[in-house]
Amino acid sequence: MVKSRTKIHGRRDFCIECRKETEYLLQKRDIVKTIRDKEYTFGITVAVCADCGEEMSIPGLIDKNVQEIDEQYRTTEGIVTTDDIEKLMKIYKIGKAPLSLALGFGEVTIPRYLEGQMPSKEYSDVVRAALTSPAYMRQKLMQNREKLTDAAYKKAMAAADSIERLFSVSEKMLSVIAYIFEKLEEVTPLMLQKLLYFSQGLYFALYSSPIFTEDCRAWIHGPVYPEVYDLFRDFKYNPIDDARFALLEGATDALTDDEKKVIDLVVNTFGMYGGKALERITHNEEPWKEARKGYGDSIPSSELLSKEHIMKYYMTVRQKYNIETENGLMDYIHDMLKKAL
Ligand SMILES: [Zn+2]
Repeated sequence: MVKSRTKIHGRRDFCIECRKETEYLLQKRDIVKTIRDKEYTFGITVAVCADCGEEMSIPGLIDKNVQEIDEQYRTTEGIVTTDDIEKLMKIYKIGKAPLSLALGFGEVTIPRYLEGQMPSKEYSDVVRAALTSPAYMRQKLMQNREKLTDAAYKKAMAAADSIERLFSVSEKMLSVIAYIFEKLEEVTPLMLQKLLYFSQGLYFALYSSPIFTEDCRAWIHGPVYPEVYDLFRDFKYNPIDDARFALLEGATDALTDDEKKVIDLVVNTFGMYGGKALERITHNEEPWKEARKGYGDSIPSSELLSKEHIMKYYMTVRQKYNIETENGLMDYIHDMLKKAL
């Protein structure tokens, strides 16, 4: 089928030079501005008449440029954005006024920042430190405890605890989890456990080493990384929707291309199945069966599923299936699901 061509109509407005409505083009332009004796170059957007080439004044464009300059200035000077402040409020489950007090600012300081006022570098650094270190936030909360209600204090302290728990797993594990959540819309704790396990197995088979150092245990519902289980246990059988993930932005940069390739393979194949189907697959794999020997179906166990065993198993799978490709992995999945029937 041939796609029909649609004529793209340009944006139009009144040109003062041409004295009529004309089409205009949006262009990027650099401007130099001096702020507090320092020169800055900012990229802004201008509208240019398509007929005469003169700049045109378009409603909304000035606001857009003010916002762009504000953002670029903050990036250059390392000043936190309103998004950063909102992130901090979300992960600590704290309102704008209480947050202001908790950080040792006046009650209206954070509300003003949220309305667009530029924080000083000193105050910005306090917000940034709170955002990157739960220990620092905890210290601030304790310092300013008497300014907060008991409920706000307790809620924020509990959030600090859960954030510290998040950073108790290895950096690599955190990066793999962040990457999986970047790629898949809905992931339950059960699914996540299996996707981590398959990622580890596949990486072992292809590169003879593990992605992450955490050990795996043979629980009733399949291979489990207990530290990760603890992180997300509150979500039970529901998709994980975690405010703490705001802290993991950029965490995936720590992954190598090979690691990303393996997780992509897993996400695009195993990731299309629900937790229960994935559980059926692992229940038919050697490492889990071996570790569960002697245990009845519903008897809990915490036997180690050793890394060596996982590696050996997936290397034998590799001999039979072309698991470097999505098609090869799908063949393996289909065979394993058939076996489970
Ligand atoms: Zn014109």
